[in-house]
Amino acid sequence: MADPAPKLELVLKGVPASPGVAHGTAFVFLQKELEVPVYQIEKSQQPAEVQRLHHALTQTRAQIAKLRAEVAGRLGEPEAQILDAHLMVLEDNALIEETIHEMENSSYNIDYCFQAVAQRYTDAFNKMEDEYLRERAADIRDVSRRVLHHLLGQATASLARLGGQRVVIAQDLSPSDTAGLDRHSVLAIATDTGSRTSHAVIMARSLQVPAVVGLHNATERLENGDDVLLDGYEGLLIVNPTEKTLFRYGHIEKRQRDIRSAIEAVIPLASETRDGARIGLMANISDPEETKEAKHFGAAGVGLYRTEGLFIRHDRFPNEEEQYEAYKNAVEALRPNPVVIRTLDLGGDKHITSLQFTHKEDNPFMGFRAIRFCLEHPNIFREQLRAILRASAHGTVKIMYPMISGLQELIQANLLLEQAKGELRANNQAFDPNVAVGSMIEIPSAAWTADQLALHCSFFSIGTNDLIQYLLAVDRVNDRVAHLYDPAHPAVLRAIQHIITTAHHHKIPVSICGEMGGDPMFTPLLLAMGADDLSMSPAGLPDVKYLIRNFRLDEAQALLAKVMEQTDPKNTLALLRRFYLEHMGDLARADVGA
Ligand code: PEP
Ligand code: MG
Repeated sequence: MADPAPKLELVLKGVPASPGVAHGTAFVFLQKELEVPVYQIEKSQQPAEVQRLHHALTQTRAQIAKLRAEVAGRLGEPEAQILDAHLMVLEDNALIEETIHEMENSSYNIDYCFQAVAQRYTDAFNKMEDEYLRERAADIRDVSRRVLHHLLGQATASLARLGGQRVVIAQDLSPSDTAGLDRHSVLAIATDTGSRTSHAVIMARSLQVPAVVGLHNATERLENGDDVLLDGYEGLLIVNPTEKTLFRYGHIEKRQRDIRSAIEAVIPLASETRDGARIGLMANISDPEETKEAKHFGAAGVGLYRTEGLFIRHDRFPNEEEQYEAYKNAVEALRPNPVVIRTLDLGGDKHITSLQFTHKEDNPFMGFRAIRFCLEHPNIFREQLRAILRASAHGTVKIMYPMISGLQELIQANLLLEQAKGELRANNQAFDPNVAVGSMIEIPSAAWTADQLALHCSFFSIGTNDLIQYLLAVDRVNDRVAHLYDPAHPAVLRAIQHIITTAHHHKIPVSICGEMGGDPMFTPLLLAMGADDLSMSPAGLPDVKYLIRNFRLDEAQALLAKVMEQTDPKNTLALLRRFYLEHMGDLARADVGA
C-alpha cells in the first residue's frame, strides 16, 4: 500500500514574545469553551445522574459561600451581595427540575442536559428589555460554568495537567493560566492575540518558555496532536515541519546553545562597561521560587517583586501570615542583597475571581487598579504592608507603590504605611524601621510631578510597560495596536530622561523595571541616561551584562546624543540595532532588533 501523502508544512507568522525553539505536539487550549461530552444513558442510570447533579450543586454552593465570606471580610458586605445573586441561581428549582426533565425525555447524560437548559435560560435573560434582568444572564453563565466544572470533575481548565510535553496553542492566556502552568510539560506557547508586555507573556519569559503571540487564528487552524515547531526568535509557528526544516532548526538550536554558554560566562563578572561605569542588574520575580533563577543568573537583588502573582496563584486574598511567609522566603534567599517588594497591582489584565465579580470595566488599564484599589481598601493594603514590614526583619527590603499618579496618593500610601508600622509596634513585631519606600513612575502625571514625588520617597522605578501605553495611548495588551507600542518614540525617551534627571537632582536613584529595562537594544541608552539599576526577568540578565561589558560609557553617550536628535522612531531603532550588533558581534540574538 502506498504511504499516506505527507502533510504539507504550514508557516504561521506572529510576534516573537519569548526566545527559544521548541518542537512537539500541539495542545489546543480552549479555555473559553467547556467541552461537555454527550452520551446516552440507561433509564436505570438516571437516579445516579440526578445524584451527580445534586452533588455538583452542593460543591458549587460551598465554593461560592466560601468566596462570599472572603469577599465580605475583605471588601465589604455590598460587594459580597453580588455573590448572593449567584447563590440564588443555584436555588432556582425551575433550572434544576427542567434539567432532570430534559434528561428523562432525551436519555442524555446530566451534564449535557444541564448545559442545554442553562444555555436556554441565559439566552432568554439576554433578550429581556430590563437591564437588571439582562445582567442575570451573566450570573447564570458564571454559575453554570462552575456547576459544569464540578460535574466534569475538573477544577478549571488548566495548564497544570497536560499529560505529556506539549506546545500550548491558545486564543489568549491570562496571568492565572500562566501561573498554573507546569514548566516541565509546557514546551512553548503560541497565542492568537496578546502582546510582548501582557503579564502572561512576561511570566512566560521568566519561566523561559519560548512564546509567539499575535498569530490571529492558530487555534482555528490547528488540532490537538498536530506536529509543530515554534520559533520564539522569529515569531513563527511551523505546522508539520519537513525533515529539512527540522534539520535547519537543529542547527539553530545548537548554535543558540553555544551562544548561551559563551554569554553566560559573564555571570560571575562585574556589571560594568569597558571603562568601568557600573550599573546594577536586578531581577523581576513574581514568586519566591524565582529567587533561585535570580541568583543563578547573577542578579544583584530583586528590583521588582510583583506580589500579585501570589494572589493570582491562590485566586483569593492570601492572609498576612501567608504573605509574610512568601516575602520572607524571597528576602532570606537573596540576603544581603535587596528585594524591592511592590504592593498589590491587581486590575488591568491581572485578576482574581473575587475581584472579577466586583469590577467589570470597559477600560481596565485606566480603571480601578493597583494603588487605587489599595487606597480604597485600607484593610487589605495595611495587611500587605504589615507582611512586607515583618519580612524586612529578615534582610534588606524596599517597599514600592505601583501606579502612583500624583503626590496625594503617595502621601496617603505613606500614611497607611506608618499606621501599619504602629500596629506592628503595638504587637511587638519586628521590622526594619528604616525600610526604604519608592514610587513607580509609570503614569505621565507622575513623570511630570517627579520633583514633588522625589521629596516623599527614596527611590524611583520606571515601569516602562505602563508608561509607554499611557504616553502613547496604546493598550499594551491589544494586538490590533501593538505596532504603535513603541519604546523608541521620542516622547518615551524624553520622559525617561526627564525622570532620571529629576530624581538625580533630588539625589534619589532610579531603576528601570519594565520590559525595556531587559531589552539589550536599549541598554546603552538607559545607561547613558544615568539609570542606576536595570531590572528584568532573570534569564535576560547575562545578555544585558555581556553587552555592557563590551562598550564604553562615552560610546553610549554619543549614541544617546544622536538618538535624542531623531524624530522618527525607525531611525532610532536602526541606530540602536547597529550599536547592538557592533558590540555583541557573533553573539547577537536573532530576536533583538528583528
Ligand atoms: C511596568 O508597568 O513597566 C511594570 C514593571 O509593571 P507591570 O508590568 O507589572 O504593570
Ligand atoms: Mg506597571
